[in-house]
Amino acid sequence: MIDIVILNRNLRLNDNAALFYGSLRSDYIVVYLYDENYWKANGKSSRQLKFSNDCLEELDNSLKNINSEINIFEGSFNDLQKWIETSFNDYFIHMNHCTDINYFREGFEKFKKHFNKKLRVYDDFGLQLNNFNRDAWSKNWNYIMHADLLESPVANKNIKEINLIKFNEFKNKINKKFTGLVNIQKGGTSIANELLESFLYDRCEGYRSKMSSPGLSEDSCSRLSPHFTYGSISIRQVYQKLSELLPSLKNQKDLYSFKKRLYWHCHFVQKLHTEPELEFHSMHRMCDELRTEYDYEMIDKWIKGETGFPFLDACMKFLQKNGWINFRMRAMIMSFASYNMWQPWQKTSPLLAELFTDYEPGIHISQVQMQSGVTGINLPRIYSVPKQSIDQDINAEWTKKLLPQLNDFDPKLIHNAELEDLYIPKIVDLKASAKFARDEIWGIRKSKVFKDEARKVYLKHGSRRKRNVN
Ligand SMILES: Cc1cc2nc3c(=O)[nH]c(=O)nc-3n(C[C@H](O)[C@H](O)[C@H](O)COP(=O)(O)OP(=O)(O)OC[C@H]3O[C@@H](n4cnc5c(N)ncnc54)[C@H](O)[C@@H]3O)c2cc1C
Repeated sequence: MIDIVILNRNLRLNDNAALFYGSLRSDYIVVYLYDENYWKANGKSSRQLKFSNDCLEELDNSLKNINSEINIFEGSFNDLQKWIETSFNDYFIHMNHCTDINYFREGFEKFKKHFNKKLRVYDDFGLQLNNFNRDAWSKNWNYIMHADLLESPVANKNIKEINLIKFNEFKNKINKKFTGLVNIQKGGTSIANELLESFLYDRCEGYRSKMSSPGLSEDSCSRLSPHFTYGSISIRQVYQKLSELLPSLKNQKDLYSFKKRLYWHCHFVQKLHTEPELEFHSMHRMCDELRTEYDYEMIDKWIKGETGFPFLDACMKFLQKNGWINFRMRAMIMSFASYNMWQPWQKTSPLLAELFTDYEPGIHISQVQMQSGVTGINLPRIYSVPKQSIDQDINAEWTKKLLPQLNDFDPKLIHNAELEDLYIPKIVDLKASAKFARDEIWGIRKSKVFKDEARKVYLKHGSRRKRNVN
């Protein structure tokens, strides 16, 4: 019997359940499923694929040291199923769970069902995959985080020759998709470890205050997010290293704040796992009635950074170039689209996701909904672009770096977008649009039916921790 390990978004050697258990009999192959349509589906993009490829490359090199390597299967889950059945008589499949978009989930569910007893899916995350119980969630998460880390996979008896292309050939084939993506983060376990070290020992100083500034956060946030998304390091590895070192480290308050966010990560992903319909529907279903029309031209200006509001446009330019921006700016960008532009989040969310190298559907979709006021369990917050511009970039230096055509302007004019016809026209009236949004949102929230439904949403998705992150 041969063991078949199928990789998706857990691209690391250690603490990788499918790889570890699949290797134990020393007679295994490792297969990465490359489905071109997946990379075109809801929010996926070539910058994410590039990052994932970096991770695969390092993993492939590590596997070669233990008589193994990554084979690439090109096609869908359905194609992979047929290939396995025609290529092997006696086999057992190992995979890690992955909470992802509908396109992935549908294929994965059919695949699991089909192979049934010939396949094992490993939890490998801080989630409750079955027996969901929100009240016990926190306890369960702590249990997973404290469990022993899994070691490296066992060496293979010998490299198996199979009729799939090898990683290097695949890499050469798809490298052309990545032209122009020079500034996005690079993937791989060694980089993830370097980021963790430099963050814990040095970069985290002032994390709590610097994280709100788009300029300062670039260096003072951990920058581990795409590594979690593609699994070049596990949340548990980070959690355990942090817990072990914490007593001896400086900047404890900053690090405690970071530790909480590791919990948030899984808390948000759990929401999509529990209710996959959230990819298409608002957590509070009545909120789907709020924004029924959309304006492609306006959305296009927003995503290109041509709204006429310099600070917002600078954030978009920064994100396009680097594939990352800090939390506060993501929230402001989304709030502008949903409140000021009054566009349905279902139209704007995938476009924004495509720009994030770290696109994690569970976090992204839940956060998009929070910043659009459609969860029913979070107080709506409309971010003011001029206020954020003043608070985070008082001299407008950061904005000017991204929009050099504004170099000669007074910061005050930039903050308030008072540039007359010397800059792009504003696509909305900020005050009037915010008032409209407030009236609409609070209007719908008043009724008893809304509140009753919101209670149900809380029971299903709300955090039970004292400082509520929801
Ligand atoms: C509209 C919107 C969309 C977002 N989409 C994504 C996404 O697709 N992928 C993603 O990883 N994060 C997303 N976030 C959350 C947050 O902005 C990023 O996790 C963070 O900026 C990543 O940078 P970092 O790793 O340096 O974060 P750090 O501040 O160093 O945090 C460490 C880790 O904690 C987790 N984390 C931090 N903040 C949050 C949060 N608010 N909610 C859940 N987990 C959190 C992440 O895994 C992050 O890598 C989104 C936020 C908003 C408002």
